[in-house]
Amino acid sequence: MAILSEKGIIDRIRQQSGTKSADLLVGIGDDCAVVRRGGGLVELITTDTLIEKIHFDPAWHAPELLGRKAAAVNLSDVAAMGGRPRYCLLSLSLPVDFSETWLDSFMSGFLARLSEHETMLIGGDTVKSVSGSAISVTVLGEAVEAALLLRSAAHPGDLVMVSGTLGDAAAGLEICRRSICPVKDDWQELIAAHLDPSPETALGLILAESGMVNAMMDISDGLATDLAHICTESKVGAEIDAELLPISDATRDAAKTLVGEPLSWAISGGEDYRLLFTVPVEHGEKIKRLVHDELGRELYAVGRIVAGEGVMLLDGVRRLDIAYHGYDHFNKNV
Ligand code: ADP
Ligand code: MG
Repeated sequence: MAILSEKGIIDRIRQQSGTKSADLLVGIGDDCAVVRRGGGLVELITTDTLIEKIHFDPAWHAPELLGRKAAAVNLSDVAAMGGRPRYCLLSLSLPVDFSETWLDSFMSGFLARLSEHETMLIGGDTVKSVSGSAISVTVLGEAVEAALLLRSAAHPGDLVMVSGTLGDAAAGLEICRRSICPVKDDWQELIAAHLDPSPETALGLILAESGMVNAMMDISDGLATDLAHICTESKVGAEIDAELLPISDATRDAAKTLVGEPLSWAISGGEDYRLLFTVPVEHGEKIKRLVHDELGRELYAVGRIVAGEGVMLLDGVRRLDIAYHGYDHFNKNV
């Protein structure tokens, strides 16, 4: 097991870098870096990498869907700040024996997902890899400075809300891993959640413009870790009510068949790419109505921000500290 967790590595890099500039509003530590551009607008910059056998397995991840996902996970980080994605850079590391058909399908999915979010590919890099492929994407976006939603702005008393069911992607991954065939109709949505997640661009913009949200990020590593990021950056704690967590019927059904734990998928599974945000309690119902009216979407209040630190899961009997118990590349369940 590695000595440093993923968070430990990033904290160390952050301490050493000491990046400071008058234009830099947010550096290491949020979903995107934020640079002031003038006219009340800011530039958003984010990058994410998908590595073969770590983030995806070509045995079940068709190239077109992999292309869509490589774009989606980066678009999601711009949505997480309440921004609008604009431009994209794509760096590909490919083994010498890659197929042209694979590349064409990958690019078709990648460009389709970008175009759904009005984002243009403007450059990148292409290199040879000794084993497996790696896909690194950078997305540039923009936001109104006054509406920007950061991880560091949660207040004690805020409701903790999520924008959809949790654990679907983890359930989908488990179904793919076990090569279950044929797949029940109800499970298709779980597989899609893993292979082809949807960035919440439209919702992120509505939440930012509403003026009702305090802190926001996207859920890539699981609620337990991502809410811990909000708590650390905001110097607060959080309590989650287990019974309020939105878990789909399909995920519960898959958990029964696969002997999985739906609660654990929901808090630690990661890759749901839903928005996680905090709202002053007096705006809770208003924001739900607004999002329902504008997008026909449901929001779920799952807990509250409290003074102190840590992320506690309350299940009626126990209080468990689940902070950073999500996905970690270097150390599972630190
Ligand atoms: P996300 O899950 O939203 O993509 P990460 O957990 O990957 O965010 O990263 C958290 C923060 O740390 C981000 O601000 C990211 O830019 C920064 N970061 C991650 N790895 C590095 C690195 N190697 N060097 C500098 N900054 C990094
Ligand atoms: Mg993020």
